[in-house]
Amino acid sequence: MTTINENYLKLKTGYLFPEIARRVKTFAEINPDTDIIKLGIGDVTEPLPEACRTAMIQAVKDMGDHATFKGYGPEQGYSWLREKIAVNDFQLRGCDIDDSEIFISDGAKCDTGNILDIFSKENKIAVTDPVYPVYVDTSVMAGHTGEANEKGEYEGLVYLPINAENNFIADIPSQKVDLIYLCFPNNPTGAIATKDYLKTWVDYAKAEGSIIFFDAAYEAFITDDSLPHSIYEIEGAKDCAIEFRSFSKNAGFTGTRCALTVVPKTLVTKVSDGSNIELWKLWSRRQCTKFNGASYIVQRGAEAVYSDRGKAQVKKLVNFYLENAHIIRYKLKMAGFEVYGGVNSPYIWLKTPYNLSSWDFFDKLLQTTHVVGTPGSGFGAAGEGYFRISAFNSREKIEEAMRRITTQFSI
Ligand SMILES: *Cc1c(COP(=O)(O)O)cnc(C)c1O
Repeated sequence: MTTINENYLKLKTGYLFPEIARRVKTFAEINPDTDIIKLGIGDVTEPLPEACRTAMIQAVKDMGDHATFKGYGPEQGYSWLREKIAVNDFQLRGCDIDDSEIFISDGAKCDTGNILDIFSKENKIAVTDPVYPVYVDTSVMAGHTGEANEKGEYEGLVYLPINAENNFIADIPSQKVDLIYLCFPNNPTGAIATKDYLKTWVDYAKAEGSIIFFDAAYEAFITDDSLPHSIYEIEGAKDCAIEFRSFSKNAGFTGTRCALTVVPKTLVTKVSDGSNIELWKLWSRRQCTKFNGASYIVQRGAEAVYSDRGKAQVKKLVNFYLENAHIIRYKLKMAGFEVYGGVNSPYIWLKTPYNLSSWDFFDKLLQTTHVVGTPGSGFGAAGEGYFRISAFNSREKIEEAMRRITTQFSI
């Protein structure tokens, strides 16, 4: 008889966004003429940069001609794209990353989950709480955890609470963990990491023989020159960290799909027979077997991000969202909210007023202002009492949402 991967049955599946959708739908049915403004889901709203579109149109033309047609590409991604990434995203920032250490994919979401394929189930995994739910759910699916308790915490995972008291920056764990997911600038809290802070993690990982999974999906939102964009700006990180990046949030590729993972060749771990193995080899083997490369057309679109026109257009796009974030931060503060994030990040994280639970505040905000955000508790037990507002929307909608909130709330 067929049996299933019963780890899937442990999942508290897809609770957050379906529940938001359900409550919004119910509200809209009772109040059909209200104009609901969604500042909830972490998806971009502005169209693709012209440089990327033009490159993709040309790539489609390439596909229509025998002389330039492309079939399967390299599983690791085209070298013309990897080389530009290596230079612009890493070498120009002083990171000694070579194009052969970069793997192009169709998403950082899948990569942050798929990476567990090359590690054994015995590894102890640490995540922050609150956290991007993908890290937790993929750890459950891959068999790294036991069951969830009533708070939704899985047995076997190490949760590192982040809150206003520790500036949304996790303390280094007192116990030994093998794999650590870190995300900076952070989704959902908008927190950022300094070089000194990341150095404490690199030192920990090197001392314990652990590996850091560094999710830099929002690095383009960093405007403060003193902040690191890549974990490889920290000395020693090449020996203990894998970095994930994406074109989703900088160039608006959420619906176009292109991302990359960096596995340095110096990242070596021990095999049970005592020998050493490069993780690069395992990830390469995994990708070559289970992945056939990102689309040629899309990779040409991603390549255009590194052209002069592309750079200017991406900068403009990111600045637009950052300006939205600034408006949200400013207006919420004026209304008396306790707000975090929203600087070097498209996410604003606020403390719910009047000690409301995250979901009670969600309902109150929806009913009184018709604005939709994301309850902090949906990102983990320690997110209770917090709420996420996203800067991904039009200026008009952001201003209207803030007008409603400042009229309604005076805390
Ligand atoms: C949006 C996002 C990503 C990007 O995922 P893609 O699959 O590349 O679209 C990765 N990590 C975090 C934390 C995100 O919010």
